Amino acid sequence: MKVAMYYSQEDIRIEKMSTPRIGEDEVLVEMKACGICGSDLMDWYLRNRAPLVLGHEPAGIIAKAGSIVEGFTVGDRVFVHHHVACLTCHYCLHGDYTLCEQFHKTHIEPGGFSEHFRVPAPNLQIDTLKIPENISFEEATLIEPVGCCLRALKKCSIKAGDSVAIIGAGPAGVIHTALAKIFGAVQIIISDLIDYRLKMAEKFGADIMVNPEKEELAEVVKSETDGRGADLVVVAAPSIGAYKTGVGVCRRGGRLCVFAPTLPGKYLPVSPKELFFSEIQIIPSYSTSHLETRTALELIESGRIDAKGLMTHRFPLTDAAEAFKTALRNKESLKVIILNE
Ligand SMILES: [Zn+2]
Ligand SMILES: [Zn+2]
Repeated sequence: MKVAMYYSQEDIRIEKMSTPRIGEDEVLVEMKACGICGSDLMDWYLRNRAPLVLGHEPAGIIAKAGSIVEGFTVGDRVFVHHHVACLTCHYCLHGDYTLCEQFHKTHIEPGGFSEHFRVPAPNLQIDTLKIPENISFEEATLIEPVGCCLRALKKCSIKAGDSVAIIGAGPAGVIHTALAKIFGAVQIIISDLIDYRLKMAEKFGADIMVNPEKEELAEVVKSETDGRGADLVVVAAPSIGAYKTGVGVCRRGGRLCVFAPTLPGKYLPVSPKELFFSEIQIIPSYSTSHLETRTALELIESGRIDAKGLMTHRFPLTDAAEAFKTALRNKESLKVIILNE
């Protein structure tokens, strides 16, 4: 089978690999569509593990099922989550599913940017979802990224009536916008250096769009919130500057979501004194669990999240290198999808 092998951002090769063999409690999925995630573009994070096959937002059809598999059969259209928690360890019992040891160990093999992939038993049992008839494979690739944003907003206790500032209008920033609207945010202010992305955010419900090259986010947030700052700030841009801006636009007692990791070795100076008196809560959110993927699927199925509207580019698997280039550099792109047709 063909796979897109990642050596670096600039070097993605179409290679041949033998189709994975499955165990009696596993399935083999024929990939149909798989999204490129912001984390697939974090070269510093991937370089040490390369060469590898990326892709963790896959949807496809079950091509083979092991002899004792229950609940799934050949021909089922499915979304598969690449990481699943054990549901029994200390972290899981405390709801910290993404910190579970098994969560990190579980993977689809070799990855989503491949003609086929193997789904290990835990992934099949805990977080493989059948895709309803009215959802396309492409739309189903949004389940994982929507789940990640959903979890972040839940962790930050988003409430109806909140004012929300989002820094970064890439795919995650725009999904946060759409979800914040669903949760009843009254004011969504989003900033990005790319006007095209701000326009997309507006389509998905942002009330005020700010290009920091033209105006100060801090000034805009201040004037829109009676000088208070936003109740909730989501930093969806991987830079220290974005975090500094984020702290600056968060109101006293507000919540700041750490959604985008910065380069290793980068630090944000925090003053315990200022934190103490401002009571700003800093809340990180990594990945998504089996709980949010189900809700994400419902939101996409009901049309409350316009999954199609988030996608701007589609490439066949054989053009994976071009797809990565587009996700990385095309200023008029949002979600880029790789297809196996
Ligand atoms: Zn992702
Ligand atoms: Zn666990």
